Amino acid sequence: MEYLITSNSENQTIKIAEAFSIFLTGGDAVLLNGELGAGKTTFVNGICKGLGIKSQINSPSFTILNKYIIKKNKELIHADFYRLDSIDEIINVGIEEFLYDPKYIVLIEWPEILKSSIKKEYIEITFSYLVEDYNSRVLTFKSNFNYWDAKLKNFKKILKL
Ligand code: ADP
Ligand code: MG
Repeated sequence: MEYLITSNSENQTIKIAEAFSIFLTGGDAVLLNGELGAGKTTFVNGICKGLGIKSQINSPSFTILNKYIIKKNKELIHADFYRLDSIDEIINVGIEEFLYDPKYIVLIEWPEILKSSIKKEYIEITFSYLVEDYNSRVLTFKSNFNYWDAKLKNFKKILKL
């Protein structure tokens, strides 16, 4: 299923992400698509806020993988594969160790190369600009898995409240 929502500000994107974070549990994989500056890292910030992560969130553009503790045995991985251009490089940073471990919630910016190698259910969120308005973005949540469809349905419900 697919669900589109418009955000009219950075702050609204954070609020949407906070609402979405309620549905995230260990083992979840979230792929974040969209051009530079589209709002992927901002969205991750909102998720971290929603999950109660207090530490400063930095973009992993250079570090590739950032790790945050949520609570005992629950951690969040924020990856950014913009600088990696082959599947070997991506596997070499150890992403599979996190992707297939129920301890981790994994959020990935620039997931395109990895995508076809992922052997589990994932959700994709695509961020796109609106030409008319610099502060607006369309967020498209897309799932091809029952597991994520169920979460998406409930997410839609709470946003409509
Ligand atoms: P990405 O990780 O996709 O490259 P960032 O989240 O780092 O993008 O940057 C998004 C930029 O766009 C920030 O400077 C933010 O202030 C700005 N912005 C403007 N409007 C929005 C919006 N509606 N949602 C998210 N970011 C927005
Ligand atoms: Mg980013």
